[in-house]
Amino acid sequence: MEIVKFGTPILREKGARIEAVTPAIKKLIADMFETMYAHKGVGLAAQQVGLALQLTVLDVRGVNDRPSSLELEGQPADVHAFMPLVLINPEIKPIGKSVAGPEGCLSFPEIFAEIIRPDVVDVEAMDAEGKTVRFRCGGLLARAIQHEADHLKGILFIDRMSKEAKEQIRAELEDLQLATKAALKPAGQRK
Ligand code: ZN
Repeated sequence: MEIVKFGTPILREKGARIEAVTPAIKKLIADMFETMYAHKGVGLAAQQVGLALQLTVLDVRGVNDRPSSLELEGQPADVHAFMPLVLINPEIKPIGKSVAGPEGCLSFPEIFAEIIRPDVVDVEAMDAEGKTVRFRCGGLLARAIQHEADHLKGILFIDRMSKEAKEQIRAELEDLQLATKAALKPAGQRK
């Protein structure tokens, strides 16, 4: 699938809830994982492939230098064994203190910034089998889940940047938005 870039209106749309994991949703999940892995991403939201749905896929196993933690039913659990992760209609509750950490986004190529987010969150969601999953996570996984859950509400990581951080990348953001909008215009309107 093609990943849409900043400037595409669907990135600002709130995703519709998914009531059941139909064969079409299963196919979409498989396609999103393929797309995410092809771009070496840690997470991908449905909006990023042009669909306003409450669905995100994640996998932190490819990152070795930024740890994640996981608790299932109050017990420490193996993060790698919990991957890959599908979250449908996720609800996120912040638990830990807020910490700064680097973030990028497949819809913002080459743009990175420090974002402040809670370092631990509780998550409740529907999984790829349509079952309810509940867990507590921290570190990179908590950051990635919050980033993706934001996408599902039409919120982007630039909305969470400090004024100073956003000012530093202002020119890149404007260029990206202009390039995206130019590519979105029907061919006849291009100059
Ligand atoms: Zn993103």
